[in-house]
Amino acid sequence: MYISAISLMVTTGCNLSCAYCFEGEKRGEHMTANTAKRAVDWLLRSDVSGPSKELEITLFGGEPLINMPVIREVIPYARRRADEVGKHFTFTATTNGLLFSDEVADFWKEHGIGVLLSCDGLPEAHDMNRRFANGEGSYGKLAVNMDRILNTARSKQVRITVTPQTVHLTAKGVSSLLDLGFEHIAIYYTEETPWDRNSLITYQDQLYQIGEMYTEMLDQGAKRSVNPLDKGIKAMLRANSGACESENCNGDLHLCGAGRGYLAVGVDGTLYPCHRFATAESCQGSHAIGHIDTSLDETRRLPFLRMTRRNILGCDMPCADCKLSEVCSGSCTAANLAVTGNLLMRPRWSRFHELIRHEVSRAIVNHFGFKRLDDFERCQQKGADTGVTVNEEGQRPTIHREGENHAKKEEARAV
Ligand code: SF4
Ligand code: SF4
Repeated sequence: MYISAISLMVTTGCNLSCAYCFEGEKRGEHMTANTAKRAVDWLLRSDVSGPSKELEITLFGGEPLINMPVIREVIPYARRRADEVGKHFTFTATTNGLLFSDEVADFWKEHGIGVLLSCDGLPEAHDMNRRFANGEGSYGKLAVNMDRILNTARSKQVRITVTPQTVHLTAKGVSSLLDLGFEHIAIYYTEETPWDRNSLITYQDQLYQIGEMYTEMLDQGAKRSVNPLDKGIKAMLRANSGACESENCNGDLHLCGAGRGYLAVGVDGTLYPCHRFATAESCQGSHAIGHIDTSLDETRRLPFLRMTRRNILGCDMPCADCKLSEVCSGSCTAANLAVTGNLLMRPRWSRFHELIRHEVSRAIVNHFGFKRLDDFERCQQKGADTGVTVNEEGQRPTIHREGENHAKKEEARAV
Protein backbone atom coordinates (compact mmCIF):
# COMPACT_ATOMS: atom_id res chain seq x y z
CA MET A 1 0.00 0.00 0.00
CA TYR A 2 1.41 3.38 -1.06
CA ILE A 3 1.96 6.39 1.21
CA SER A 4 0.28 9.69 0.33
CA ALA A 5 0.67 11.69 3.56
CA ILE A 6 3.37 12.13 6.16
CA SER A 7 3.93 14.17 9.27
CA LEU A 8 7.41 15.63 9.44
CA MET A 9 8.33 15.78 13.11
CA VAL A 10 10.62 18.79 12.70
CA THR A 11 11.27 19.07 16.44
CA THR A 12 10.40 17.39 19.72
CA GLY A 13 10.82 20.73 21.51
CA CYS A 14 7.92 22.96 22.53
CA ASN A 15 7.40 26.39 24.06
CA LEU A 16 4.44 25.10 26.10
CA SER A 17 3.96 22.37 28.70
CA CYS A 18 0.33 21.44 28.14
CA ALA A 19 -1.10 19.31 30.91
CA TYR A 20 -2.55 16.76 28.49
CA CYS A 21 0.36 16.57 26.02
CA PHE A 22 0.95 12.95 25.02
CA GLU A 23 4.60 13.72 24.29
CA GLY A 24 5.56 13.80 27.98
CA GLU A 25 9.08 15.06 28.61
CA LYS A 26 10.23 17.37 25.79
CA ARG A 27 13.56 16.15 24.45
CA GLY A 28 14.12 19.26 22.35
CA GLU A 29 15.73 17.49 19.37
CA HIS A 30 15.49 19.19 15.96
CA MET A 31 15.29 17.57 12.55
CA THR A 32 18.09 18.77 10.26
CA ALA A 33 17.39 20.27 6.85
CA ASN A 34 19.24 17.35 5.31
CA THR A 35 16.95 14.80 6.99
CA ALA A 36 13.84 16.80 6.04
CA LYS A 37 14.93 16.88 2.40
CA ARG A 38 15.72 13.17 2.41
CA ALA A 39 12.24 12.55 3.78
CA VAL A 40 10.76 14.52 0.88
CA ASP A 41 12.87 12.58 -1.63
CA TRP A 42 11.81 9.32 -0.01
CA LEU A 43 8.10 10.19 -0.25
CA LEU A 44 8.45 11.16 -3.91
CA ARG A 45 9.88 7.76 -4.83
CA SER A 46 7.57 5.79 -7.09
CA ASP A 47 7.85 2.69 -4.89
CA VAL A 48 6.72 4.78 -1.86
CA SER A 49 3.93 7.08 -3.11
CA GLY A 50 3.13 5.08 -6.24
CA PRO A 51 0.94 6.80 -8.83
CA SER A 52 -0.48 9.40 -6.36
CA LYS A 53 0.02 12.89 -7.72
CA GLU A 54 -1.35 14.70 -4.66
CA LEU A 55 0.74 14.28 -1.52
CA GLU A 56 0.39 15.87 1.91
CA ILE A 57 3.01 16.95 4.41
CA THR A 58 2.05 18.07 7.92
CA LEU A 59 4.66 20.00 9.85
CA PHE A 60 4.46 18.62 13.35
CA GLY A 61 6.35 18.64 16.64
CA GLY A 62 6.59 19.53 19.51
CA GLU A 63 5.90 22.99 18.20
CA PRO A 64 7.05 22.98 14.57
CA LEU A 65 7.58 26.76 14.30
CA ILE A 66 10.50 26.41 16.72
CA ASN A 67 12.41 24.93 13.80
CA MET A 68 11.67 27.65 11.21
CA PRO A 69 15.13 27.48 9.59
CA VAL A 70 14.44 23.91 8.45
CA ILE A 71 10.87 24.74 7.40
CA ARG A 72 12.18 27.64 5.31
CA GLU A 73 14.56 25.28 3.53
CA VAL A 74 12.43 22.21 3.07
CA ILE A 75 9.21 23.76 1.68
CA PRO A 76 10.73 25.37 -1.45
CA TYR A 77 12.87 22.25 -1.92
CA ALA A 78 9.81 19.99 -1.75
CA ARG A 79 7.88 22.16 -4.23
CA ARG A 80 10.78 22.09 -6.66
CA ARG A 81 11.35 18.34 -6.36
CA ALA A 82 7.63 17.62 -6.71
CA ASP A 83 7.48 19.69 -9.91
CA GLU A 84 10.38 17.69 -11.32
CA VAL A 85 8.54 14.41 -10.91
CA GLY A 86 5.03 15.69 -11.74
CA LYS A 87 3.56 15.57 -8.23
CA HIS A 88 2.13 18.20 -5.90
CA PHE A 89 2.40 18.79 -2.16
CA THR A 90 -0.17 20.30 0.20
CA PHE A 91 1.45 21.60 3.39
CA THR A 92 -0.20 22.20 6.76
CA ALA A 93 1.30 22.96 10.16
CA THR A 94 -0.23 21.86 13.44
CA THR A 95 0.76 24.72 15.73
CA ASN A 96 0.00 26.45 19.01
CA GLY A 97 0.27 29.76 17.13
CA LEU A 98 2.50 31.50 19.66
CA LEU A 99 5.38 32.04 17.21
CA PHE A 100 3.16 33.12 14.32
CA SER A 101 4.93 36.42 13.61
CA ASP A 102 4.58 38.70 10.56
CA GLU A 103 7.65 37.02 9.04
CA VAL A 104 6.11 33.57 9.50
CA ALA A 105 2.80 34.81 8.06
CA ASP A 106 4.59 36.16 4.96
CA PHE A 107 6.31 32.81 4.41
CA TRP A 108 3.02 30.92 4.96
CA LYS A 109 1.22 33.11 2.42
CA GLU A 110 4.02 32.88 -0.13
CA HIS A 111 4.00 29.08 0.00
CA GLY A 112 0.26 28.51 0.60
CA ILE A 113 0.79 26.56 3.83
CA GLY A 114 -2.29 25.66 5.88
CA VAL A 115 -2.63 26.09 9.64
CA LEU A 116 -4.33 23.77 12.09
CA LEU A 117 -4.36 25.85 15.25
CA SER A 118 -4.55 24.23 18.67
CA CYS A 119 -6.82 26.40 20.81
CA ASP A 120 -9.19 25.16 23.48
CA GLY A 121 -11.94 27.74 22.96
CA LEU A 122 -12.65 29.99 25.93
CA PRO A 123 -9.63 31.58 27.65
CA GLU A 124 -10.42 29.84 30.95
CA ALA A 125 -10.57 26.41 29.28
CA HIS A 126 -7.44 27.08 27.23
CA ASP A 127 -5.42 28.30 30.21
CA MET A 128 -6.43 25.37 32.37
CA ASN A 129 -4.24 23.05 30.27
CA ARG A 130 -2.28 25.00 27.67
CA ARG A 131 0.34 26.58 29.90
CA PHE A 132 3.96 27.64 29.77
CA ALA A 133 6.48 25.72 31.88
CA ASN A 134 6.09 28.34 34.65
CA GLY A 135 2.38 27.55 34.88
CA GLU A 136 1.17 30.74 33.18
CA GLY A 137 -1.71 30.29 30.72
CA SER A 138 -0.97 30.96 27.03
CA TYR A 139 -4.30 32.35 25.76
CA GLY A 140 -3.29 36.01 26.14
CA LYS A 141 -0.18 35.55 23.99
CA LEU A 142 -2.08 33.50 21.41
CA ALA A 143 -4.84 36.16 21.20
CA VAL A 144 -2.25 38.70 19.99
CA ASN A 145 -1.58 36.48 16.93
CA MET A 146 -5.13 35.31 16.29
CA ASP A 147 -6.05 37.80 13.54
CA ARG A 148 -2.75 37.22 11.81
CA ILE A 149 -3.36 33.46 11.80
CA LEU A 150 -6.92 33.84 10.56
CA ASN A 151 -5.87 36.24 7.81
CA THR A 152 -3.03 34.00 6.68
CA ALA A 153 -4.46 30.52 6.71
CA ARG A 154 -5.95 29.25 3.47
CA SER A 155 -8.42 27.26 5.56
CA LYS A 156 -9.43 28.46 9.02
CA GLN A 157 -9.06 25.28 11.03
CA VAL A 158 -8.80 24.85 14.77
CA ARG A 159 -8.69 21.88 17.11
CA ILE A 160 -10.07 21.95 20.63
CA THR A 161 -8.84 19.40 23.11
CA VAL A 162 -11.40 18.65 25.80
CA THR A 163 -10.62 17.10 29.17
CA PRO A 164 -12.99 16.07 31.97
CA GLN A 165 -11.99 19.35 33.69
CA THR A 166 -12.88 21.60 30.72
CA VAL A 167 -15.71 19.64 29.13
CA HIS A 168 -18.43 21.90 30.57
CA LEU A 169 -16.97 24.81 28.55
CA THR A 170 -16.92 23.01 25.19
CA ALA A 171 -20.08 24.43 23.57
CA LYS A 172 -19.25 28.01 24.55
CA GLY A 173 -15.72 27.41 23.30
CA VAL A 174 -16.98 26.24 19.90
CA SER A 175 -19.29 29.25 19.73
CA SER A 176 -16.45 31.66 20.50
CA LEU A 177 -14.20 30.11 17.84
CA LEU A 178 -16.98 30.38 15.25
CA ASP A 179 -17.43 34.04 16.25
CA LEU A 180 -13.72 34.63 15.77
CA GLY A 181 -14.03 33.37 12.19
CA PHE A 182 -12.84 29.76 12.28
CA GLU A 183 -14.58 27.63 9.68
CA HIS A 184 -13.53 24.11 10.56
CA ILE A 185 -13.54 23.03 14.18
CA ALA A 186 -12.44 19.62 15.39
CA ILE A 187 -13.15 18.54 18.96
CA TYR A 188 -10.85 15.91 20.43
CA TYR A 189 -11.23 14.48 23.90
CA THR A 190 -8.19 13.31 25.82
CA GLU A 191 -8.21 9.53 25.96
CA GLU A 192 -5.46 9.21 28.55
CA THR A 193 -7.43 11.02 31.26
CA PRO A 194 -10.03 8.87 32.99
CA TRP A 195 -13.57 10.04 32.14
CA ASP A 196 -15.95 9.39 35.02
CA ARG A 197 -19.73 9.18 34.89
CA ASN A 198 -20.34 12.91 35.46
CA SER A 199 -17.83 14.11 32.90
CA LEU A 200 -19.27 11.74 30.29
CA ILE A 201 -22.79 13.00 30.88
CA THR A 202 -21.51 16.58 30.63
CA TYR A 203 -19.85 15.68 27.33
CA GLN A 204 -23.18 14.39 26.10
CA ASP A 205 -24.98 17.62 27.08
CA GLN A 206 -22.28 19.72 25.44
CA LEU A 207 -22.39 17.75 22.19
CA TYR A 208 -26.16 18.25 22.02
CA GLN A 209 -25.69 22.00 22.47
CA ILE A 210 -23.09 21.95 19.71
CA GLY A 211 -25.49 19.88 17.59
CA GLU A 212 -28.10 22.63 17.97
CA MET A 213 -25.56 25.25 16.89
CA TYR A 214 -24.53 23.07 13.98
CA THR A 215 -28.14 22.67 12.92
CA GLU A 216 -28.56 26.46 12.76
CA MET A 217 -25.43 26.71 10.64
CA LEU A 218 -26.71 24.05 8.26
CA ASP A 219 -30.06 25.83 8.04
CA GLN A 220 -28.24 28.89 6.75
CA GLY A 221 -25.93 26.95 4.46
CA ALA A 222 -22.82 28.08 6.33
CA LYS A 223 -19.93 26.24 4.75
CA ARG A 224 -18.47 25.27 8.08
CA SER A 225 -17.78 21.97 9.77
CA VAL A 226 -17.72 20.85 13.36
CA ASN A 227 -16.25 17.46 14.08
CA PRO A 228 -16.83 14.80 15.24
CA LEU A 229 -20.42 15.57 14.06
CA ASP A 230 -19.64 16.32 10.41
CA LYS A 231 -17.79 13.03 10.00
CA GLY A 232 -20.45 11.18 11.99
CA ILE A 233 -23.24 12.44 9.72
CA LYS A 234 -21.29 11.61 6.58
CA ALA A 235 -20.43 8.11 7.78
CA MET A 236 -24.08 7.52 8.68
CA LEU A 237 -25.33 8.65 5.27
CA ARG A 238 -22.69 6.62 3.48
CA ALA A 239 -23.84 3.59 5.43
CA ASN A 240 -27.45 4.40 4.41
CA SER A 241 -26.44 4.38 0.79
CA GLY A 242 -25.19 0.84 0.81
CA ALA A 243 -21.56 1.09 1.92
CA CYS A 244 -22.85 -0.91 4.86
CA GLU A 245 -23.09 -3.96 2.71
CA SER A 246 -19.38 -3.93 2.05
CA GLU A 247 -17.21 -3.07 4.99
CA ASN A 248 -18.76 -0.26 6.97
CA CYS A 249 -21.15 -2.27 9.06
CA ASN A 250 -19.12 -5.34 9.66
CA GLY A 251 -15.77 -5.58 11.32
CA ASP A 252 -13.60 -5.20 8.23
CA LEU A 253 -13.33 -1.44 8.36
CA HIS A 254 -9.72 -0.40 8.78
CA LEU A 255 -8.93 1.93 11.63
CA CYS A 256 -7.29 5.32 11.00
CA GLY A 257 -4.62 5.55 8.29
CA ALA A 258 -1.72 5.03 10.71
CA GLY A 259 0.96 2.94 9.03
CA ARG A 260 -1.23 2.52 5.95
CA GLY A 261 -1.48 5.57 3.66
CA TYR A 262 -0.11 7.87 6.36
CA LEU A 263 2.94 7.79 8.61
CA ALA A 264 5.30 10.04 10.53
CA VAL A 265 8.99 10.74 9.99
CA GLY A 266 10.78 11.23 13.32
CA VAL A 267 13.51 13.84 13.83
CA ASP A 268 16.24 11.33 12.88
CA GLY A 269 14.39 9.93 9.84
CA THR A 270 12.87 6.90 11.57
CA LEU A 271 9.44 5.99 10.19
CA TYR A 272 6.51 5.50 12.60
CA PRO A 273 2.85 4.57 12.01
CA CYS A 274 1.82 8.13 13.01
CA HIS A 275 2.84 11.30 14.87
CA ARG A 276 1.85 9.87 18.23
CA PHE A 277 3.97 6.78 17.78
CA ALA A 278 6.86 9.09 16.86
CA THR A 279 6.67 11.27 19.95
CA ALA A 280 4.39 9.90 22.68
CA GLU A 281 6.19 8.87 25.85
CA SER A 282 4.12 5.69 25.92
CA CYS A 283 5.24 4.67 22.39
CA GLN A 284 8.83 5.86 22.15
CA GLY A 285 11.20 3.46 20.50
CA SER A 286 8.54 0.85 19.92
CA HIS A 287 6.64 0.34 16.69
CA ALA A 288 9.19 1.96 14.39
CA ILE A 289 8.39 0.67 10.90
CA GLY A 290 11.51 1.65 9.00
CA HIS A 291 13.79 4.56 8.17
CA ILE A 292 13.91 6.95 5.22
CA ASP A 293 17.35 5.58 4.28
CA THR A 294 16.27 1.94 4.22
CA SER A 295 12.55 2.50 3.51
CA LEU A 296 9.64 0.65 5.09
CA ASP A 297 10.15 -2.55 7.04
CA GLU A 298 7.07 -4.35 5.71
CA THR A 299 7.23 -7.03 8.41
CA ARG A 300 6.96 -4.44 11.17
CA ARG A 301 4.34 -2.52 9.21
CA LEU A 302 2.16 -5.55 8.55
CA PRO A 303 0.15 -5.47 11.83
CA PHE A 304 -0.93 -1.90 11.02
CA LEU A 305 -1.98 -2.91 7.52
CA ARG A 306 -4.06 -5.74 8.91
CA MET A 307 -5.75 -4.06 11.87
CA THR A 308 -9.48 -3.65 11.45
CA ARG A 309 -12.35 -2.76 13.71
CA ARG A 310 -13.00 -6.46 14.19
CA ASN A 311 -9.74 -6.71 16.14
CA ILE A 312 -10.64 -4.05 18.70
CA LEU A 313 -11.03 -5.39 22.22
CA GLY A 314 -13.31 -4.11 24.92
CA CYS A 315 -16.61 -3.77 23.06
CA ASP A 316 -18.51 -6.86 24.30
CA MET A 317 -20.08 -7.53 20.91
CA PRO A 318 -19.19 -8.08 17.26
CA CYS A 319 -19.30 -4.95 15.07
CA ALA A 320 -22.00 -6.53 12.90
CA ASP A 321 -24.37 -6.45 15.91
CA CYS A 322 -23.37 -2.99 17.09
CA LYS A 323 -25.60 0.02 16.43
CA LEU A 324 -22.55 2.27 16.41
CA SER A 325 -21.05 0.61 13.38
CA GLU A 326 -22.51 3.31 11.11
CA VAL A 327 -20.11 5.87 12.56
CA CYS A 328 -17.50 4.00 14.54
CA SER A 329 -13.91 4.13 13.37
CA GLY A 330 -12.70 1.65 15.96
CA SER A 331 -10.33 3.46 18.24
CA CYS A 332 -6.92 5.15 18.36
CA THR A 333 -4.28 2.45 18.71
CA ALA A 334 -1.69 4.89 20.08
CA ALA A 335 -4.10 6.02 22.81
CA ASN A 336 -5.04 2.41 23.49
CA LEU A 337 -1.38 1.63 24.03
CA ALA A 338 -0.97 4.60 26.38
CA VAL A 339 -3.99 3.74 28.51
CA THR A 340 -4.27 -0.03 28.48
CA GLY A 341 -0.79 -1.08 27.34
CA ASN A 342 -2.37 -2.93 24.41
CA LEU A 343 -2.71 -1.48 20.89
CA LEU A 344 -6.10 -3.08 20.47
CA MET A 345 -7.70 -2.72 23.90
CA ARG A 346 -9.69 0.51 23.99
CA PRO A 347 -10.15 2.46 27.25
CA ARG A 348 -13.57 1.71 28.68
CA TRP A 349 -14.82 5.29 28.22
CA SER A 350 -13.95 5.53 24.51
CA ARG A 351 -16.99 3.56 23.32
CA PHE A 352 -19.22 5.91 25.25
CA HIS A 353 -17.81 8.93 23.41
CA GLU A 354 -18.60 7.09 20.18
CA LEU A 355 -22.13 6.43 21.41
CA ILE A 356 -22.75 10.14 22.01
CA ARG A 357 -21.40 11.04 18.60
CA HIS A 358 -23.73 8.51 17.03
CA GLU A 359 -26.70 9.80 18.99
CA VAL A 360 -26.23 13.49 18.15
CA SER A 361 -25.34 12.79 14.50
CA ARG A 362 -28.50 10.69 14.19
CA ALA A 363 -30.58 13.49 15.75
CA ILE A 364 -29.28 15.95 13.13
CA VAL A 365 -29.87 13.52 10.25
CA ASN A 366 -33.45 13.00 11.49
CA HIS A 367 -33.97 16.72 12.01
CA PHE A 368 -33.30 17.48 8.34
CA GLY A 369 -34.61 14.22 6.97
CA PHE A 370 -31.34 13.55 5.15
CA LYS A 371 -31.37 10.30 3.25
CA ARG A 372 -28.24 10.54 1.19
CA LEU A 373 -24.82 12.11 1.45
CA ASP A 374 -25.53 14.61 -1.30
CA ASP A 375 -28.63 15.84 0.62
CA PHE A 376 -26.29 16.83 3.42
CA GLU A 377 -23.66 18.31 1.13
CA ARG A 378 -26.27 20.40 -0.70
CA CYS A 379 -27.54 21.68 2.62
CA GLN A 380 -24.00 22.60 3.70
CA GLN A 381 -23.54 24.60 0.52
CA LYS A 382 -26.90 26.27 0.12
CA GLY A 383 -28.88 26.00 3.32
CA ALA A 384 -31.84 23.85 4.20
CA ASP A 385 -34.43 25.85 2.28
CA THR A 386 -32.79 25.22 -1.05
CA GLY A 387 -32.21 21.55 -0.53
CA VAL A 388 -33.81 18.77 1.38
CA THR A 389 -35.92 19.95 4.21
CA VAL A 390 -38.60 18.03 5.94
CA ASN A 391 -39.73 14.74 7.39
CA GLU A 392 -42.79 12.73 6.37
CA GLU A 393 -45.11 15.17 8.16
CA GLY A 394 -43.69 18.03 6.15
CA GLN A 395 -41.79 19.51 9.09
CA ARG A 396 -38.33 19.52 10.46
CA PRO A 397 -38.30 17.86 13.85
CA THR A 398 -36.22 19.66 16.47
CA ILE A 399 -33.12 17.93 17.73
CA HIS A 400 -34.32 15.82 20.56
CA ARG A 401 -32.66 13.52 22.97
CA GLU A 402 -34.50 10.30 22.62
CA GLY A 403 -31.25 8.39 23.03
CA GLU A 404 -30.35 10.06 26.28
CA ASN A 405 -31.71 7.48 28.64
CA HIS A 406 -30.24 4.75 26.59
CA ALA A 407 -26.86 6.47 26.61
CA LYS A 408 -26.94 6.95 30.35
CA LYS A 409 -27.78 3.30 30.82
CA GLU A 410 -24.95 2.25 28.55
CA GLU A 411 -22.54 4.62 30.25
CA ALA A 412 -23.41 3.17 33.61
CA ARG A 413 -22.61 -0.25 32.23
CA ALA A 414 -19.38 0.83 30.57
CA VAL A 415 -17.72 3.10 33.12
S1 SF4 B 1 -18.12 0.29 19.03
FE1 SF4 B 1 -16.90 -1.62 19.01
S2 SF4 B 1 -18.34 -3.22 18.34
FE2 SF4 B 1 -19.25 -1.22 17.81
S3 SF4 B 1 -18.61 -0.84 15.69
FE3 SF4 B 1 -17.12 0.15 17.04
S4 SF4 B 1 -15.46 -1.36 17.28
FE4 SF4 B 1 -17.27 -2.47 16.50
S1 SF4 C 1 -3.18 5.91 15.88
FE1 SF4 C 1 -4.42 7.49 16.86
S2 SF4 C 1 -3.19 9.38 16.78
FE2 SF4 C 1 -2.32 7.93 15.30
S3 SF4 C 1 -3.32 8.49 13.35
FE3 SF4 C 1 -4.53 6.83 14.31
S4 SF4 C 1 -6.15 7.89 15.46
FE4 SF4 C 1 -4.54 9.41 15.00
